[in-house]
Amino acid sequence: MYTLSKYTDVPSPSLCLLEKYEALVTLNSKGTSNSQTIHIGDIETNYTLEKATITKRTAKMVEKFCLQYGLEEKIMFKHQKMALGVGEKEINFIEHRYKEFKTLFPYLELWDVNTLKQLEPKIVFEDKAQTKIRPEPIIAMGTNTQYTTVDYGQMSQALAKEAHNATDNTTDIFYNTQVIDIFEKEDNTFEVHCQDDTLYTADFVVVNAGAHSLFLANRMGYGKHMGCLPMAGSFYMTQSHFLNGKVYMVQNNKLPFAALHGDPDILADEKTRFGPTALMLPKLERFKPGTYLDFFKTLNFDFHIVKIFWDLLKDSDIRNYVFKNFLFEVPLINKKLFVQDARKIVPSLSVEDITYAKGFGGVRPQVLDKEKEKLMLGEASLTPKDGIIFNMTPSPGATSCLGNAERDMHAIVKHLNLHYDEAQFLSDLTEVIIT
Ligand SMILES: Cc1cc2nc3c(=O)[nH]c(=O)nc-3n(C[C@H](O)[C@H](O)[C@H](O)COP(=O)(O)OP(=O)(O)OC[C@H]3O[C@@H](n4cnc5c(N)ncnc54)[C@H](O)[C@@H]3O)c2cc1C
Repeated sequence: MYTLSKYTDVPSPSLCLLEKYEALVTLNSKGTSNSQTIHIGDIETNYTLEKATITKRTAKMVEKFCLQYGLEEKIMFKHQKMALGVGEKEINFIEHRYKEFKTLFPYLELWDVNTLKQLEPKIVFEDKAQTKIRPEPIIAMGTNTQYTTVDYGQMSQALAKEAHNATDNTTDIFYNTQVIDIFEKEDNTFEVHCQDDTLYTADFVVVNAGAHSLFLANRMGYGKHMGCLPMAGSFYMTQSHFLNGKVYMVQNNKLPFAALHGDPDILADEKTRFGPTALMLPKLERFKPGTYLDFFKTLNFDFHIVKIFWDLLKDSDIRNYVFKNFLFEVPLINKKLFVQDARKIVPSLSVEDITYAKGFGGVRPQVLDKEKEKLMLGEASLTPKDGIIFNMTPSPGATSCLGNAERDMHAIVKHLNLHYDEAQFLSDLTEVIIT
C-alpha cells in the first residue's frame, strides 16, 4: 500500500487493505515473532555472493525507509554483528568468504581471537570467569558500523501511516475482515468475499496473507503444484544482557534452515535471544486458535510430497536436525539439548543462563515445489494471471518487504496503466545514483 500510495497516481478511493485480525501485526511481522534482523547477506553464511547482491539492494530499502522518516534509534538500531567460524575448516571458510564478500560489503572486518576477546568475550572463553580460552581456534567476520535490527511490527505500522500521509486519496484498512474467497469476473476484475459477508471489487489483488496466501490461491484453483510446510521457530532468552551483538554461525549447507544465532532483542532490554529452532507445525498460524484444517489443505499432500520428505529425511544430518528440533520443544529436556548446540557460540553457556521464550516466535511458510520435488528455500510468488499476485514469505520476508513491493508495484502499474515516479522511488529507497 505504501509504495502505491507514495509513488503512483492510483486514483481515489481505490486502495485498501483487508486484515483478518483486529490489528496490523499479530502474526509473523510482530517484533517478538521474528529475529528482528535486517538480513543483508554479509554474515548470513547460507547466502551466496549472488544472492547477497540481491538481498543487499532490498535490505537497504528497509534502512532507507526508516532513515527517511527519522525512525533510527526508535525502531531501527545498530548492533555489532559477526559470522563466527569455529575450528580449522570453518576458519578457512570465513577467511575465504571475507575476501569474497568484502567487495560487496567494504565495511566488513576480519576479527581474530584477540580482537574477539574485546568485542565479544563470551564466545572466546570456555569458563564464566573468562580465564580459559576455548580449545578450538576461532575467527569472525563482522562489523559494528551498520544498522542491523528493526522492530518489523513498528515498521509495518509506519508503512501504513506513511501510506496514508503520502496521498489525499483514501487508503483504507479494514480490520476483522477475513478474506474467504476471491473470484475472477468476466471483465477480468475480481470480487473479494469476506467472512463478515462484505464484498469488495478490485482491478488488482495482491495477497500477502503469509501461509494463507497459498490457501487462497488454491481456493481459486491456482498453485496446486505447490504445498506449504509451516515451520515454527522458537527462541531461548537469556536472563539479562548477554552478548554485545549478533553472532551467526557457519551454515551446514545440507540443512534447509539457517543455523541458530544469538541476537540482542530490542523489545526485551537487549537480552540475547538464541534461535530460531525449526519444527514443523500442523497449523498455519502460531498462538492463534484453529488453522489445522487449513494446514492439511495447503499441504496438498500426494506422492510428490512424500518424495520430498523422503529425500530430505534419508540424509542423516537432516534426520538428526529434525529430531533435535522436535526435542527442543519438549519440556524438561529441551533446554539441556539446546544449550549443547548453542555452546558452539558461547562455550560457557549453562541451562541457568536461558529460559524458553514463551510466546515468542512464529511460522515460516516454506514452499514445497511438487513439480521439482524440492523444498524451496526462501520466498515464492505466484502470478497465475495478470491482475493477481500471491506472495509466500518465509524468512527473510520482512527484510525483503519493500523489494517485493517494488516488484509487485511494477506489475500493478503496467496492468492498470498508472503513472509511476520511478526516479523518486529509486532515489528514496536505493543506493542507485541517477544521472
Ligand atoms: C522465527 C522466525 C524468525 C524470523 N526472522 C526474520 C528476520 O530476522 N528477518 C526477516 O527479514 N525475516 C524474518 N522472518 C520472516 C518474517 O517474519 C516474515 O517473512 C514476514 O513477517 C512476513 O510478513 P507477511 O506480511 O508476509 O506475513 P505476516 O506477518 O504473517 O502477515 C500476514 C497477514 O495476513 C493476514 N491474513 C492472513 N489470512 C488472511 C485472510 N484470509 N484475510 C485477511 N487477512 C489475512 C494475517 O492476519 C496477517 O496480518 C522470521 C520468521 C520467523 C517465523
